[in-house]
Amino acid sequence: MQMKFDVITLFPDMINQACSHSIIARGISHNIISVNTLNPRDFTLDKHKKVDDTPYGGGAGMVLMCQPYCDCFDSIEKTDNTEIILLSPQGKVFNQNMARYLSKKEHIILICGHYEGFDERIKKYTRAKEVSIGDFVLTGGELPAVCIIDSVSRNIDGFLGKIDSAHFDSFSDGLLEHPQFTKPRLYQQMEVPEILLGGNHQLIAKWRRKQQMIITYQKRKDLFDKFKENCRNKEDLALLNEVISEFTV
Ligand code: SAM
Repeated sequence: MQMKFDVITLFPDMINQACSHSIIARGISHNIISVNTLNPRDFTLDKHKKVDDTPYGGGAGMVLMCQPYCDCFDSIEKTDNTEIILLSPQGKVFNQNMARYLSKKEHIILICGHYEGFDERIKKYTRAKEVSIGDFVLTGGELPAVCIIDSVSRNIDGFLGKIDSAHFDSFSDGLLEHPQFTKPRLYQQMEVPEILLGGNHQLIAKWRRKQQMIITYQKRKDLFDKFKENCRNKEDLALLNEVISEFTV
């Protein structure tokens, strides 16, 4: 089944441009995903095509108006499996678990703000979930929308050449990904680890698993501790203990 993204945006070129390259473009041309943009400006009833106005109560900037956004939203056909997301720095912070959850949907509507953001009633009308891509403020929701399209798509079965590529991505099972190397074997006196050259896939898998744990321990101790707390796999537990003892001497 094709995953359909509908993006409500005043700047459709930002979405279309970003989705016209590399693996996302391939996903579109193979009909695994579709990305459609809708511009609230095309729905405004204002003769000057206005989509924003000054805030009630005063203050800087312009606020996005209900009518063009809500009419634009209403023009989209929804299904029982439609997810409605409104991009906002105040939303729940997006992560890999959310990407995986969303990859099981058949239709996602992404509502991008701009300027000072939305009239609060747009959030209520659309019953959207507010999603943020991090604790910082961007000028618009277009870049966050593209981030979400990209990471959700990676998790759709058949989207990547090898499903394994997403399976071992950082965060997929709570750990960061192991280090990767490619040719040449020696570069500026830096060697590729010997074990990767031997062809023993069992040893390589074990080495990579341990590297995942080491890297997570060094870079994201919070994730490491959480992984350790929930770990029930005997081999993983043995490796975890090795890593902990190596780092606590
Ligand atoms: N005045 C708003 C506030 O302080 O919460 C910020 C508005 S921001 C300049 C304009 C739009 O960019 C937002 O409506 C939202 O759609 C988008 N945006 C900005 N930062 C974002 C983030 N971290 N995650 C998701 N969307 C973001």
